[in-house]
Amino acid sequence: MKAGIHPDYKATTITCVCGNVIETRSTKKDIKIEICSNCHPFMTGKQKIIDTAGRVEKFKRKYAPKAETATPTKKTTKKA
Ligand SMILES: [Zn+2]
Repeated sequence: MKAGIHPDYKATTITCVCGNVIETRSTKKDIKIEICSNCHPFMTGKQKIIDTAGRVEKFKRKYAPKAETATPTKKTTKKA
């Protein structure tokens, strides 16, 4: 290896939110992840929604019955 051009490649740990800790080597230090091979639905066989960008929430809000606080339409605000 040529000196001075390679980043530091050190031992580090990858910590998953499920509590699984994987020891590996990386240029990054203390990596945190949301899903790993230990808790991924493919491995556990359980149904789990992986919501990375709040898409499930967005969908629920969009198709939920209209709340009372919704902005009134022109018909309801019409004055006599
Ligand atoms: Zn995990």
